[in-house]
Amino acid sequence: MNNKQEHSERGDLLQAAAGYALGYLEGLDNRAVAPTQAALDGLGALGGPLPEAPDDAGAVLALLDELGSPATVATTGGRYFGFVVGGSLPVTLGANWLATAWDQNAGLYALSPVASALEDIALGWLADALGLPASVAGGFVTGATMANFTALAAARHATLARAGWDVEAQGLFGAPPIQVIVGEEVHVSLLKALSMLGFGRDRVTRVPVDEQGRMRADALPAINGPTIVCIQAGNVNSGACDPARAICAQAHAGGAWVHVDGAFGLWAAAAPKRRYLVAGIEDADSWAVDAHKWLNVPYDSGIALTRDGDSLRAAMSTNAAYLTQGENREPCQYTPEMSRRARGVEVWAALRSLGRSGVAELIERNCRQAAMLADGLREAGYRVLNEVTLNQALVSFGSDEETLRVIAALQQEGSAWMGGTRWQGQGAMRISVSSWATRDEDVQIALAAILRVARQETGRLVTAQA
Ligand SMILES: *Cc1c(COP(=O)(O)O)cnc(C)c1O
Repeated sequence: MNNKQEHSERGDLLQAAAGYALGYLEGLDNRAVAPTQAALDGLGALGGPLPEAPDDAGAVLALLDELGSPATVATTGGRYFGFVVGGSLPVTLGANWLATAWDQNAGLYALSPVASALEDIALGWLADALGLPASVAGGFVTGATMANFTALAAARHATLARAGWDVEAQGLFGAPPIQVIVGEEVHVSLLKALSMLGFGRDRVTRVPVDEQGRMRADALPAINGPTIVCIQAGNVNSGACDPARAICAQAHAGGAWVHVDGAFGLWAAAAPKRRYLVAGIEDADSWAVDAHKWLNVPYDSGIALTRDGDSLRAAMSTNAAYLTQGENREPCQYTPEMSRRARGVEVWAALRSLGRSGVAELIERNCRQAAMLADGLREAGYRVLNEVTLNQALVSFGSDEETLRVIAALQQEGSAWMGGTRWQGQGAMRISVSSWATRDEDVQIALAAILRVARQETGRLVTAQA
């Protein structure tokens, strides 16, 4: 095969892929959010024995689209309100495609100057948008779980270094004990990060929370000796944020390191009208934030940020000689991984295209839409269980059993997808609005669908719609 033929085959293949992708995205409005049973049944045909011989590449892509696309959950569309799932801004999807074509190893400057530079720029912009110290250091990881892990490794380093212990060299055996303080409503991924770091998920002090799930600053235990306090911006159910200013002040008075799990809630800092929710968050020592949630870049993308870059580098470097920061950013000094994809590309593209006001507008619009959904359900006579100050709403449709039935029926009906949870002993529908793709029209369609299935499932006629 000559070069020209190869080029045109590659071109055909990539054009076909772009065509399938566009077809998929343009079809999102007209399909159920959850895949149909037929689509799930079709997945079997992707398997079978390992092919003995090569197959036509175009046919492989065609098969992937034919059987794979329908078996997705339409989380990237405008009517997915489960977990906390952001869509992908078109510019970030495009940047992702281009970066994938570059196929850069973002571990080292020598392997990818552009990845290193974009991370540096994106970090500065992130700090600015989120109101964090301009000097923050950061690592681009898979998500908030690994961002928590990475930042807490820096916390572990700093806390033990102050006690005269080199944890990277000596490990935790015989180390001075560290008290780890979390809120009663701590996210499971933070506990997982603690367990991976040798802190143990049960060996923590849990601080009581208020009725919205916020850690009570007045209930923080006395702090002395090596201590890490883990607070939260954005309770995964209620969206509530711990009182950062008060907790940071008390924790710092006792010499503790304060880490913030701000997977989605930290973005409140980027919207002027919501910033009060996370007032004082910039006083902390480290932060974990997701970009694949509220910044709406493709999976996977989270960022670990620390005030003190030396601690992060000490925890993540493979060799002490790397500790001195050279002229260029060496990305692998900030992350658990060595080789990895260039996640900073999409973060850069999102921030470059949205700008400060665009990010603020995205966050503010989703918060307003969450309130629209909550107000509509409350007006119809259902109970909203939380103060809807951010992008999360919790709704009860009567008994736990009725609420479960409404959630299942909505998922089955397909015009929108909401999950379930338990909140303060009650079953609840959990609504999260986190996507640029959600238009007010989608909110109205989702609301009408919930009211329709709720009437059917509870048999209860409610005020507005009766
Ligand atoms: C989603 C979430 C996480 C975990 O984030 P991943 O990106 O899934 O790893 C951690 N903490 C909170 C508060 C979250 O909402």
